[in-house]
Amino acid sequence: QPVLAVVGRPNVGKSTLVNRLLGRREAVVQDVPGVTRDRVAYDALWNGRRFTLVDTGGWEPDAKGLQASVAAQAELAMHTADAVLLVVDARVGATETEEAVARVLRRSKRPVLLAANKVDDQRGVSDVHSLWSLGLGEPRPVSALHGSGSGDLLDAVLDAFPETPREIFGATGGPRRVALVGKPNVGKSSLLNKLTGEERSVVHDVAGTTVDPVDSLVELDGEVWRFVDTAGLRKRVKTASGTEYYASLRTKAAIEAAEVAIMLIDASEPLSEQDLRVLTMVVEAGRALVIAYNKWDLVDEDRRHQLEKEIDRELVRVRWAERVNVSAKTGRAVAKLAPTLRTALESWDTRIPTGRLNGWLSDLVAANPPPVRGGRQPKILFATQAQSRPPTIVLFTTGFLEAGYRRFLERKFRETFGFVGSPVRISVRVRE
Ligand code: GDP
Repeated sequence: QPVLAVVGRPNVGKSTLVNRLLGRREAVVQDVPGVTRDRVAYDALWNGRRFTLVDTGGWEPDAKGLQASVAAQAELAMHTADAVLLVVDARVGATETEEAVARVLRRSKRPVLLAANKVDDQRGVSDVHSLWSLGLGEPRPVSALHGSGSGDLLDAVLDAFPETPREIFGATGGPRRVALVGKPNVGKSSLLNKLTGEERSVVHDVAGTTVDPVDSLVELDGEVWRFVDTAGLRKRVKTASGTEYYASLRTKAAIEAAEVAIMLIDASEPLSEQDLRVLTMVVEAGRALVIAYNKWDLVDEDRRHQLEKEIDRELVRVRWAERVNVSAKTGRAVAKLAPTLRTALESWDTRIPTGRLNGWLSDLVAANPPPVRGGRQPKILFATQAQSRPPTIVLFTTGFLEAGYRRFLERKFRETFGFVGSPVRISVRVRE
């Protein structure tokens, strides 16, 4: 999700314009973490595209004077945003302050847009031309008060953003896609057979060749799910030796094609390297995850203790995934899979609104500030959940955040917002 920073000195009508761009009447003020109380992030939506709008606040002279404060704001905007919008009062024209900020912004590698505000009528249009002198390209006339020009301005903003990768999974309905993965003989085809019931007609095996993955539609708990690339499983194709590489490629492709993976692990055997490799594939692909320990009918007390130890030792990095102990043979707990898949997908789909996210983060960081590095205390300026599927949080900071602190934030984030069964990615954008 791209970020637009809006900058401008007091009284140019910036707040009114921000509300206009957000389609709101009243100022919705949301405090943001860090000492800078005057920086506010909002979710914005225009023409079906989402972006984060950051209002950088007015430039008040600070200890080093107005020019320094202006330059600092402009620098910040340049470094944290994908595009910058400078708001100028067209009736006043470009003041020294705006000339100073324009000098900073002209060096920016990011696109800069210039809004000439308070053009409330035809008379005001002539004032706009003088703003070309700022060297920031075309001044765009708007009236934040009346709303004229704000649609065109938003179109220009969207055009200015870099191409953002489209979400792989649109809101295209259809059954949710599941990959059933795990090493050979873990019981994948047995489980699939159990889930479908051998005779169930809902299973839809289109005759395919070996290169065409074939999906199965499976009804679980009153809902149809698409199990991807199950042709090999159902036909119990026994591959010749030396094909492990291809099997792994195929697993990878199935995971990529799915939204959630059921990772099958053989409960009767020690956890293997191969298990961990498949697990890594799921996590790296950013898919939701359910861990199913199969062959639970073979697990005795001793094995059970051993298994708990393995989990503590080897599966800490997927502590967030729910675990179900099943038996494809007896049918034990197989009915738990559907609700568990649903929970995982719900987290995977979730997007926490920027205001809520920052409100939470502000309190958390105030009570647990990031550790000082190199004598400096990094500040977290604001956060936005740039994406769901998987949930991806971008933190804008003034310095590097240690891995331990990032893990702490992730854990708290999961606790607060109830993320279960989905990876959560946290990326940090440090302002240079
Ligand atoms: P795949 O290679 O992952 O598809 O594994 P299969 O479904 O072919 O199963 C491998 C072997 O494990 C077969 O002999 C199955 O009968 C057996 N098996 C699968 N699930 C279970 C289970 O829950 N309990 C027991 N005891 N055996 C199982």
